[in-house]
Amino acid sequence: MVITIDGPAGSGKSTVARKLAARLGIAYLDTGAMYRAIAHQALERGFLPDDADALSGLARSMDLELDCGPTHTRVRVDGLDVSEAIRSMAVSRITSRVAKNQAVRDVMVEQQRKIGKQLGSFVTEGRDQGSVVFPNADVKFVLEATPEKRAHRRLTQMEADGEDVTFQEVLENLTTRDEIDSRHWSSLLGSGAAVVIDTTDMNLREVVDMLADYLSQ
Ligand code: C5P
Repeated sequence: MVITIDGPAGSGKSTVARKLAARLGIAYLDTGAMYRAIAHQALERGFLPDDADALSGLARSMDLELDCGPTHTRVRVDGLDVSEAIRSMAVSRITSRVAKNQAVRDVMVEQQRKIGKQLGSFVTEGRDQGSVVFPNADVKFVLEATPEKRAHRRLTQMEADGEDVTFQEVLENLTTRDEIDSRHWSSLLGSGAAVVIDTTDMNLREVVDMLADYLSQ
C-alpha cells in the first residue's frame, strides 16, 4: 500500500502522515527531511543555496540515511545525526532554493523510490510524491490550508522546538517557499487525481480520521 500526502508547509501533512502511518502500522517517509538535510549540509560547508554545481555534487556524494519508523524520522548525514538541526529556521530559509535545483531533485527522487521499494507499504509526504515520485500510488491526498493558519501551526511547532521566531517571520518564510515550491508541484497533480482536503478549520486528529475513513471505504 502506497499513500501519498502532498501539500504546502503547515498544511498539517507531516503530523497527519506520521499519525496515519502509525495507525496503519506502516512506515512514514518524510521527503522534506531529505531536502532539509542537503540544505543543512550546504550551510555547513558554506555553499550558496543557488550554486547549482556545488549542490548537485553534494547531493550525489553525501551519504544520507533515513530511519523511517511510523512514529519518528531520524536523519543521518555521513554518519552524523542531524534530525533536530534540519528543523531550524536557518535551514527552512534556504531549503526551497536548494530544492529547486533539478539535479538535486533527480538524486532525491531516485533515493525516494529506492527507499519506497525497501519499505513496501508506507505513507509518504512532500510536494511531488503523488505526481512525480510515486505516480502509481494507491491513494493520493493533497492537504491545503490558509497561509495564516499554516503559519500558526508552524510557529507553535517551532516554539515547541525552542526556536525564537515571530509569527511574521514564519508567515514570510511560508509565503516565499510557497512561491518557489508551487512551480514544482501544484500544477503537476491534475484535477481529480488526488483527494484534496482543506484543513484550515480542522484539527489534525480530525484530518487523520477523515483520511483513515476514506481508506477504509
Ligand atoms: O515539508 P518540509 O517543510 O519539511 O519541506 C522543506 C522544503 O523542502 C519545502 O519547502 C520544499 O522546498 C522542499 N521539498 C520539495 N519536495 C519534496 C519535499 C520537500 O521540494 N518532496
